[in-house]
Amino acid sequence: MSLQQFPETVEVKKFFSRQGQLTTSLPLQKFTRLEQYLANVEADDSSEIEVDLDFIQDDEGRFILKGSMKGALLLSCQRCLQGVEYSLSSDFRVQIIDELKVGGDTELAKDELEVVLSTEGKLNLFELVEDEVILSLPLVVYHDEPDCNQVLVDLNRSAEQNIESKPFAELEVLKKQLSSEKSKTK
Ligand SMILES: [Zn+2]
Repeated sequence: MSLQQFPETVEVKKFFSRQGQLTTSLPLQKFTRLEQYLANVEADDSSEIEVDLDFIQDDEGRFILKGSMKGALLLSCQRCLQGVEYSLSSDFRVQIIDELKVGGDTELAKDELEVVLSTEGKLNLFELVEDEVILSLPLVVYHDEPDCNQVLVDLNRSAEQNIESKPFAELEVLKKQLSSEKSKTK
C-alpha cells in the first residue's frame, strides 16, 4: 500500500467496527519528530518502517488498536554522534478513547492498556505510529566499542597523564594566585 493510501486520520467508529487490518511501509523521511533521534536522514534515504495495524472492537465495544513496527534505523551514538544500526521491532496495543468521554463512567480504560485519545471521533493514525516508534527506542544508544569517540579517548588520556605527572600543580598555581592577591591588598 502506498503512502497515498495510508490514512493519516481515521474515523474511529468506522474503522474499528469493520475490524480491519492495515499493512503498510512508511518512508522514514515522513517521521519528522523521529528525526532528532536519528544519526542523519539523507534526502535520498529510502528506508522505511513496516507497520501492521489491527483495528479491533472488543466484546464490550471498546476500540483497541494492535500494531507492530519493523525497520532498520540509524540512531546517533551518544558518545561520538555517529550512526549506530538499530533494528526496530516493536509491538503495541492501545485503547482509543474519545477525549470528550474521558472522565465519564461509561468508558473506562481497559486494564493496563495505554490510552490514546481521539478528537471528535477522529484519530491521527500517523501521529500514533510515530509516537509508538519513538517510545520503543532505547533511552541511550552507544556503539559497542567503548572507544568510538577518538577525541574523547585522547582527552581522557591526556587528563589522566596530567593527574599522574603533576597532581598538585594546579593547587600550587592557585596558592600563588591567592598569595599574590593577598599581598596586593596589603
Ligand atoms: Zn559511538
